[in-house]
Amino acid sequence: MSLHELVGHREARLAVGRAFTAGRLPQALLLHGVPGVGKQRFGLWVAQLLLCERPTEGAPCGTCQGCRLSTRVEHPDLHWFVPVKKPPSRGSPQRDDEALEDARRERIEELRARPLQPTHSADPLGLHLGTIRNLRRRAASRPSMASRQVFLVANAEELVSQEASPEAANALLKLLEEPPASLYFILTSAEPGRLLPTIRSRTSSLHLPGLTSEMVSVFLQEQRGVDVDQADALARLSSGSIGRALGYLPGEDEEEGPLEALRKESFRLLRDALSDDPAHRFSRALQYAPSGARGLRELLLGLEVWLRDLAAAREAPEALLNRDAGDWLVRTVEELGIDPAAVARSMEALHDARAQAAGNVNPQLLLSGLMIRLNRTLVSPRPTSLKGVEDQLRESGVPRRPG
Ligand SMILES: [Zn+2]
Repeated sequence: MSLHELVGHREARLAVGRAFTAGRLPQALLLHGVPGVGKQRFGLWVAQLLLCERPTEGAPCGTCQGCRLSTRVEHPDLHWFVPVKKPPSRGSPQRDDEALEDARRERIEELRARPLQPTHSADPLGLHLGTIRNLRRRAASRPSMASRQVFLVANAEELVSQEASPEAANALLKLLEEPPASLYFILTSAEPGRLLPTIRSRTSSLHLPGLTSEMVSVFLQEQRGVDVDQADALARLSSGSIGRALGYLPGEDEEEGPLEALRKESFRLLRDALSDDPAHRFSRALQYAPSGARGLRELLLGLEVWLRDLAAAREAPEALLNRDAGDWLVRTVEELGIDPAAVARSMEALHDARAQAAGNVNPQLLLSGLMIRLNRTLVSPRPTSLKGVEDQLRESGVPRRPG
């Protein structure tokens, strides 16, 4: 099975193509952009260009053996590293490295068989120390078919794992800093801020912007046979990301898509936050495990979309992203008297919760605290609390009441 055509990113293609033709394509590229926007697919296109036998006008020819093997992800000089779940130890460092390599191959095999996978994972994945050792071993060997080797390292921010020893990071950094002429590295990241600064500074970064809703919609219709109305709705919901749009569709087993399940879950969170019964908020928060707040990231993203919709419900109902909940949104905004300024304040609560989630606090505490703040800001907004006035006075340099 071949990869689907690269969608969009015309500017980036032209930029890479021009640099390639001029012989100035950086040997260490960092592709960044929102999750699911096509960074790895774009990276594979760059790899194909580098491994093509007859590139023309800064683009791969599409027909040579190098191109055919690249688009089937079977080229021996194309090395695709993706984060994997850490396999159980096999008893020695060397055998553990082999286990990681097996896990990587298995994942690539899956991607080869079913390239249209949603950008979402419930399991914590990592680029482990052993994976970096495996990468170095391959980098030390000579290209086997083309004149160069290309390493595509997906979600490079996952290199910053607790176990990544300075040695491993340094080994990769050395390769990035002075790569042999035959080596090219393409790193991708949706969170370049989490990358080691030394990695950021040794790569040339290229931003891949979100696709248009139309591109995403057409892709869903053509590649997944989604009808036009649903494709349009999902394209809006996924804000320019094919990988996310795929996450709303049911899987092969007809099971609900992972992002669709999260959309509903974040809706229930909002509904309970707005409820006037605090017991609802409390019992909702208790449904979560007391640890693992980083897993809440997607849920909080989903909640952000619902908050945006609350802001749009009255003034711009045509801009709603959760269009199937339009009636509920309009009714709720009217009944509770929610105005856009209140939503803006609630967004601050959400951003704070997101920062806390990154710090791995107790999810139950995080969510109950967030729901209380959402209730206060959305349902019964007070202009400024007394504490708020004091803070403002302090910030403006006015001395506080003596005593
Ligand atoms: Zn070619």
